[in-house]
Amino acid sequence: MTIQTTRSVDEVIGELEESYIASSPRSRDYFERGQSSMAGAPKGAYFHKPYPLAMDRGEGCYLYDLDGRCFVDCANHHTAQILGHANPAVAEVVRRQLERGIVLGAPMGVEAEMCEEMCRRVASLERIRFCNSGTEATLHAIRLARFFSGRGKVAKFEGGYHGSHDAVEISVSPPLDQAGPPEAPVALPTAGGMAPNAAENVVILPYDDEAAVERLVEQYRDDLACIIFDPKAGIWSQRREFVQAVRECARKNGVLFILDEIVGFRVAMGGLQEHYGIDPDLTTYGKVVGGGFPAGAFGGRAELMDLLDNSQGGSGIFQSGTFSAHPMVMGAGMATLRQLTPEAFAHLNGLGERLREGLEELFEREQIAAKIVVLGSLFSLYFTDREVTNYRVAAKSNQGLSYPIFLALLEQGYYLNQGLGMCALSLPMAASHVDGLVEAVGVAIERVT
Ligand code: PMP
Repeated sequence: MTIQTTRSVDEVIGELEESYIASSPRSRDYFERGQSSMAGAPKGAYFHKPYPLAMDRGEGCYLYDLDGRCFVDCANHHTAQILGHANPAVAEVVRRQLERGIVLGAPMGVEAEMCEEMCRRVASLERIRFCNSGTEATLHAIRLARFFSGRGKVAKFEGGYHGSHDAVEISVSPPLDQAGPPEAPVALPTAGGMAPNAAENVVILPYDDEAAVERLVEQYRDDLACIIFDPKAGIWSQRREFVQAVRECARKNGVLFILDEIVGFRVAMGGLQEHYGIDPDLTTYGKVVGGGFPAGAFGGRAELMDLLDNSQGGSGIFQSGTFSAHPMVMGAGMATLRQLTPEAFAHLNGLGERLREGLEELFEREQIAAKIVVLGSLFSLYFTDREVTNYRVAAKSNQGLSYPIFLALLEQGYYLNQGLGMCALSLPMAASHVDGLVEAVGVAIERVT
């Protein structure tokens, strides 16, 4: 059943915004003060209507806003805070590093530990390099693929996000009326201001369609430096066979395969590649590997990564960066990885499974046209009766409901991402937090419909 509203959605939104405004005066003051110096918000993702909540502190799985209200955090800083907030072991490492001088323009020992740990966890990683963000990680991995292959084009999937640079910010959220046929999507720049030919360097592949992927990769293989792929995208469900087929298609056509695990690394000890049983040539990381600090990383086969090895005289490609491999970040990352044990993943993924079961049961019982997509401890909520397996299904869902549901969840003390996509559970959570969220979603849907 499609969701029917007895009142207009606008009326409900009006009521919810009124309640939001009444309970967050300090956040409002903060937002208004910022208008004279910020371009709307300190960063794009920090804005949502009517104005963002400003937080005072976080502890475990809770956030406390400037007005003293407490929320169960189901966003976890864009999925990065897998241990929740103010983790004592991370805080201790950071405190020690502050005392040792913060950052000294030379390695301090912790970098090797972190690189070894990543290579130990992930079978395909023979070498790894660190940078400051996921964006930098995909930029450098793609540059390395271009350098190695001597080819210029990049294949990426429609709806996939890999950071904000010209090689990948193409067809991330294309308007459906301009996106072309589903089996041969048109490459459209996502943001203004890109190099005029940015989209010409990108081949767009559709999720969940092996035949189309094979045809397009075969067609462009002589020009393709790499395929960059995030099997979880927005998140929507991907069949294991499809993920494996994409990897094999790259191999068969002699095209490098870059797996984007910037978000997905949080699903298993060995990340998405362990989960799906694939062996990428290069993999990109970010988010959790920095333990709450700005981090990115990319790594893979020695044959490729060693091209960056300037200790051997250099091959003509270089990667560095003022704050890359920052010892505070490496320390916080190591302190995080140490806590990400098999038991921790079992707990996190068990919570994800409980959420999926709880919401599926709710939607079934109440005959609600909604889908919950869960991967490990990541989840997204859609208002549609179709299985969400690609960008176009997600784009056709009833996105008008996400905002009022988001506000209705905040009202009940659950903090999700504004579009209800790419939300994440954290290690300090218990079954009761998940059950509370399921109940709150039920109440929110009732409130909005
Ligand atoms: N790849 C994926 C899959 C992402 O989700 C993101 C950010 N959400 C990025 C790359 C870019 O990472 P960053 O924001 O650290 O630049």
